[in-house]
Amino acid sequence: MTRMTPLLERNEQFASTYTPVALGPPTTQMLIVTCLDHRVDPAIVLGLRIGEAPVIRNAGGRVTQAVIDDIAYIAFLAEQLFGGQDADDRLFEVAVIHHTQCGTSLVADPSFRHQAAEATGLPETALAASAVADPHITIQADVERLLTSPRLSPKVSVSGHVYDIATGHLTTAVDARHP
Ligand SMILES: [Zn+2]
Repeated sequence: MTRMTPLLERNEQFASTYTPVALGPPTTQMLIVTCLDHRVDPAIVLGLRIGEAPVIRNAGGRVTQAVIDDIAYIAFLAEQLFGGQDADDRLFEVAVIHHTQCGTSLVADPSFRHQAAEATGLPETALAASAVADPHITIQADVERLLTSPRLSPKVSVSGHVYDIATGHLTTAVDARHP
């Protein structure tokens, strides 16, 4: 018996009615970038099912270099495997989602940030850059960062959204556009 035991039982339940899905383009033609917060699971909040959309999650749902690298690779893969299937030659839309009450906002406080840097070995600047104090501000910055990255395929569009923990509502803050 470990803490994993109840989750393994849930997996047994899941597998008992499971039908595998073949590798193919994500059926929603979306890719989601969001926070790792366990209250913001896109499968639940957006009702995503298997095969519908890849999801990249990190602290804050920030558009870091690592996220840009992943999106560049997924765009390459999509084009290689499924390119030319879409009439307008578009690959997918990236929806970046930031949320209210984000745990990363704690590092906006300088003394908390200093403590966190000492304990984790992460540079204070990196911690500060990850903070989502106001998701309406950071979502604008991150959509812009992705759209202006030279690594972003012109066949990928980007939109920005804010998820409200208090109400469960997702609101579009930046409409989808191409680089
Ligand atoms: Zn968060």
